[in-house]
Amino acid sequence: MTPERIDELAESNYHDTIIAHCVGAGLDISEPLEESVCPCCNQQAFDVRKRRRNTAYLDELLNWIICCGECFERDNEYYAERWAEYYGSR
Ligand SMILES: [Zn+2]
Repeated sequence: MTPERIDELAESNYHDTIIAHCVGAGLDISEPLEESVCPCCNQQAFDVRKRRRNTAYLDELLNWIICCGECFERDNEYYAERWAEYYGSR
């Protein structure tokens, strides 16, 4: 299984959990997300959510981050470089 595929599965699992939770709570999931503050950059953002990081920590909790889209892009770029170094050094 490729890392991309694993990420996809993790994303879809998370999505299913969210939907199940929202349905259970009687919430309309088509509601736009409320603006909130990104815990990463402390800026107001409309896309703060839990995201699967480009990491492979044994502790699964560390592979998730709650942040806005911008922070997530930075996080992804950072780890893409780390992965490139990792594979380049073998
Ligand atoms: Zn942010």
